Amino acid sequence: MRPARMPTLAVCLTAALAIGPVVHADEGVAVAPLAATARRAGLRLLESEHLVLATDRPVRAGDGVDDLPRIFDEAFVCWCGHYGIDPTAVRDWRAFGCLVVDRERFRAAGLLPPTIPDFAHGFCDRNRFWFVDQSNPDYRRHLLLHEGGHAFTLTIRRLNTPEWYTEGIAEFLATHRLDRDPAGVERFVHAPLPARAGDVEQLGRIEELRKSRAAGTSPRLAAVLAAPPGNHRAIAAYASSWAAVVLFSQHPAFARPFTAAERGPLDADFNARLAAQPGWDMARAAREYDAFVADVDYGYDIDRMAVDWSPGRPLVAPTRVTVDACRGWQNTGLTLERDGRCRVTAQGRVLLGEVRDPATKTVTPIESEADGITLRWYRGRPVGRLLVAQWEEPQGKPPGFVILGAGSAVDITAAASGPLYLQVNEPPGDRTDTTGSFTVEIRSTP
Ligand SMILES: [Zn+2]
Repeated sequence: MRPARMPTLAVCLTAALAIGPVVHADEGVAVAPLAATARRAGLRLLESEHLVLATDRPVRAGDGVDDLPRIFDEAFVCWCGHYGIDPTAVRDWRAFGCLVVDRERFRAAGLLPPTIPDFAHGFCDRNRFWFVDQSNPDYRRHLLLHEGGHAFTLTIRRLNTPEWYTEGIAEFLATHRLDRDPAGVERFVHAPLPARAGDVEQLGRIEELRKSRAAGTSPRLAAVLAAPPGNHRAIAAYASSWAAVVLFSQHPAFARPFTAAERGPLDADFNARLAAQPGWDMARAAREYDAFVADVDYGYDIDRMAVDWSPGRPLVAPTRVTVDACRGWQNTGLTLERDGRCRVTAQGRVLLGEVRDPATKTVTPIESEADGITLRWYRGRPVGRLLVAQWEEPQGKPPGFVILGAGSAVDITAAASGPLYLQVNEPPGDRTDTTGSFTVEIRSTP
């Protein structure tokens, strides 16, 4: 899914002097002659305002292919919004896409030049792109929007950034679900972090992040940002780059400086421009990235899961804190010395959601005390159970929260010198209907 690079040095030098996104609506090849060539070759053409799609895929009712140009146009408006571009300023922009079943047909028609590398899934060259047909309509649509996102950024924004941003933003711009409007038409809805696995079938990015994290092979942020050109051949690289873009664009501490960097030149110095943005804290970004890839899941709400890293004060007297059931790791404001011991006790009940039975039309609230409810489990522990943790950065292992104990009454020994964190165990995607809090007392023990 690699795009072709463009020699854009002169353009970027000009762009560096500009304020706000620089728009190059006239960039790219003329689409009309390509469309005429495709028509002569007997390929099927599907057209919308911003896309001409040529395909050798046979017509099959209900396969969703006819909807692709309209969905592309809906995504195009969203991409303009991401970069703060008025869509009317780029109203004439058009891409030429090829949905390919048999590459030889496109080669014979002169629509797949020999200069285009032999891609696995797709490839983009300015406003032209190719993607291989898929049996899964969701994955086919994702590939269209991934390559289309490249076409948009390569031409309208003249992107020539380090590869993590090039691929990460294409994945970010492509990630979506379809919602039906009142007329029953399926519409593109940008969903930076998918709520359900079914929204992004076959993508496997979240699963890949969790797998590599569990195996201890997930790259740290510095390695992701320094990934060399040509690194994106496996899903793991796409997953890491997407994770960085989605974290930076959604996190309350990073969204503003990240957006500011994105509205500037998208050139080879993008990493340095990002690091130089007022308010950007690379050390915090690295830590948040580690925390994000450790806990990422469908429905993960970055705002809700954002971590307070402040060092806290020593635990000298028994102290009561409140832990909000709907949030991620919460800093108690108390710091422990490594090997220090304390007892954590929790009281109260939280509401984790409700179960609706359509047959009996009953609604049953799911309540939990701090030991959790064993009807449902998440990551090896009952949901609703209070988790006690510290951030640890061990030698030779990925940094992360290490759980020191769990339940309504637990004795713990500090794994590191640093603040104590609390969280109620629940899948991140289930926290939207979670309410209430536990009152937790923390006291030193000998
Ligand atoms: Zn790509």
